[in-house]
Formats: sequence, C-alpha cells, structure tokens
Amino acid sequence: MLSPNRVLVEKFPLLQSLINLEETCWFNPKITSFTEALPDVGLTAADIKDASDRLQRFAPYLVKAFPETAETNGIIESDVVEISQMKNILQQDCSTEITGRLLLKKDSHLPISGSIKARGGIYEVLTHAEKLVIKAGLLSIDDDYSKLFSDDFRKFFKGYSIAVGSTGNLGLSIGIISAKLGFVVSVHMSADARQWKKDKLRAHGVTVVEYQQDYGVAVEQGRKEAEKNPNCFFIDDENSQTLFLGYSVAGERVKAQFDSAGIKVDTQHPLFVYLPCGVGGGPGGVAFGLKMAFGDNVHCIFAEPTHSPCMLLGVHTGLHDQISVQDLGIDNRTAADGLAVGRASGFVGRAMQRLLDGYYTISDQRMYQLLAELNSQEKIRLEPSALAGMIGPAIVHSNVEYLHRMNFTDEKLANATHLVWATGGGMVPKIEMEKYLSKIND
Ligand SMILES: *Cc1c(COP(=O)(O)O)cnc(C)c1O
Repeated sequence: MLSPNRVLVEKFPLLQSLINLEETCWFNPKITSFTEALPDVGLTAADIKDASDRLQRFAPYLVKAFPETAETNGIIESDVVEISQMKNILQQDCSTEITGRLLLKKDSHLPISGSIKARGGIYEVLTHAEKLVIKAGLLSIDDDYSKLFSDDFRKFFKGYSIAVGSTGNLGLSIGIISAKLGFVVSVHMSADARQWKKDKLRAHGVTVVEYQQDYGVAVEQGRKEAEKNPNCFFIDDENSQTLFLGYSVAGERVKAQFDSAGIKVDTQHPLFVYLPCGVGGGPGGVAFGLKMAFGDNVHCIFAEPTHSPCMLLGVHTGLHDQISVQDLGIDNRTAADGLAVGRASGFVGRAMQRLLDGYYTISDQRMYQLLAELNSQEKIRLEPSALAGMIGPAIVHSNVEYLHRMNFTDEKLANATHLVWATGGGMVPKIEMEKYLSKIND
C-alpha cells in the first residue's frame, strides 16, 4: 500500500519538488475576477474603511507616544522607491529580461517596529484598546485620542493583558505598542526568533517566553496562557480578521502613492506585487487591500522559503491548514525567520486562493545573495525574509504558461510595474546586519 504522502504526491506531482527543497513555482489556473472571488473573503470595502478610520483616530496618540511618526502625522506608512540598479543585477542573475519598472515598498522601514507587522499587529492592539476604553466610558470616538497617552490610561490598561505567539516581528510590534499603552504583555517566541528581538522586547518591559519548538507551538502556548485569564486577550495570527484588516489598509495607501507619483495601473499597465508569506495574514491582508484598490489589474504573488512552503502546499492541495510542511518531511528551518511557518492560516488560504495569481519558493542562499546585492546596488538593508519577493519579476517573466494564459503581451509587460514588498529589516542591529551581509561568502 502507498503511504498517505505517496498518494498525495501522485495526485499533486508538484509536491515532489517541494519535498526535494527545489525552488518551485505554481501559478494557480483557478484564479478568477475580483468581483467573483470577493465573497470568498467575507470582508468588504466598508471593513477596510473602518480600519482606515480607526488608524486615523489613533494618529494623534501615535504622534505623542512615538515621535518618529510625527513626520507622517501619526500615520504608519512606508515609502515606495525605484530600484533600477537592482533590476539590472536581477536580469543578470536570472538570465531573464525584466521589462517595466522595478519598485520596492519599504515596510522594512515602517516606524515603531521596522516590519510589515507594524500594520496588522499594531492595528489589532489599538482596536482592542479602543474597545476596552469605550466600554469603560473613558473615551468616545470623537475624542482626541492623544489623551490615551497619560498615566490614567496606562493605569487602566495595566488591568488587562495581551498574549501572542510569534517568530519575532509580530511579537516586536505587539509588544512595543502594548507596553506603550500600559498593557501587561507576554510574547511567546519560537526557536527561530532572533536574540536581539527578544532583548529589545524585554527592554520594553515585555515578558518573553522562549520555546525550543517552532511557531505553531509558540502560538498554541500563547493561546493556552490567555485562556486561563479572562482579562487576557490573545492575538491570533492564524485566524484574526482584525490583523488582516490592519494590513489591508496598505492597498489604498499604495494607490494614493502611485497616483501622486503618476504611476499608471490599468489593463494595459499591469501591476505585479511580490509578497513574502509566513502564516499568510500579512501578505493576504495586503493583497486583499490591493485588490480592493486596483481590482483585476493587480497581480499578487506569494514567496516562501524552500524549507517552509506552507501556503503553496495548503492552496495547491486544497488542504489549507489541514496539512503542514512537516507532514511531508520538510523541516521548516530557514534563515528567513519571519517566514518560518509550517502550517498556513486556513482563513487566509480559503479567503484569498482565487485572488492570488501564484506562489513560489526561494532558497535561503539566494535570499542572502539578494540581501547583499540590494545593499551594494541600492544601499538598502533588509532582513533575509524581506528578500523573498525580489526574484518574483524574473519568475513571472520566465513563466510562459502564465503569461500566455493571462494575455500578458510584450507590450503590456513593457508597461508593467513590479512592486517587491520589503517586509522587514529596518531595526536589525548593525552587528547582526554585518553577519547577514557576510553570509554570501560562507
Ligand atoms: C511576518 C513576516 C512576513 C509574513 O507575514 P505573515 O503574516 O506571517 O504571512 C514576511 N516578512 C517578514 C519580515 C515578517 O516578519
């Protein structure tokens, strides 16, 4: 009799390359139009607007609590920059022509926590805080939220706690904002989490619980701890719609940035966006927001490490969170700590599968190489996870089946914009960055 894995591999031959840890790509033939797939998500434009309005209400608080956000009036947003030198290097590295322009979305340099988690993580904590103080009659939504930056409010929040499981960056975001508001906060960190992230959190007064196991275990333990305490709120990275909505606000923000830079997106000017994927909430939420903003003219592609291809696996097999990479004997060990997730979010996979054009995997070695190249070519420094999206344009350009099926003619591709989402790295200490940069010579 065949083992269950053998049966699965026979049904989905692509899994053999995942098991072999080969760089693999898959463009989903079942994608459909935005209007048709929107009901899968179960969220609407009104939900994104609600999130956007909430972030606006909190802006005066953020200006006070985090003066580095004063420049953007308390709105946590990152720049989009053109990286044309990097485009040349990519074309050489991959021996593929890349037409159109190559841009980088620098969520790596978002204020407060230096990663994409400054969107979803912070948003979810703010949402929870708002709910508590409104219920207690201490705040109304018409108030100036800067009043939350006071000893009285900090004392109030001390009565409540927050818990989260993380590979590092989500913990960093949630820990920093929660501690600033006054919450008692504990972060359950998986084995891959970097020491400096734990140190930084402890310096903020956050309780860091360390595990020798991976992200799935850290999340489970966080959940258990929270269940014991009725005043403890558990932030569920695997299933939270609130986190997802926090990320989704990025869509309208990118649209506004493109509008002011005169970057056109329409049928003749397609936009490709390459998003590093861990559990899926960050890239899924951003992709949802982008779809809402640009409709069928934006094409989102997820990137994962060869050792942690959980979303590709879940969507390709249709098993979503019912299968983990470990089930196939894949070890989920990667230098891309933000992406070290063995089991994808079932919510995101099911909600977004018909809206995501494709998925690919990338080796750690290549992420290190791209990290060094981006540094030398553009003087931009990222953490390894954030480079996962960088080869996306070459993958799109070399996939004839996808280009043909989608009717991406040479003319359209010449007009295309490729946006690589840089998800983290802005807070990596110099000495750690030197280590990353030296990996290329290992
Ligand atoms: C968390 C993270 C991601 C992916 O987000 P998920 O919500 O886990 O999919 C990508 N890059 C970095 C640097 C991250 O920290």
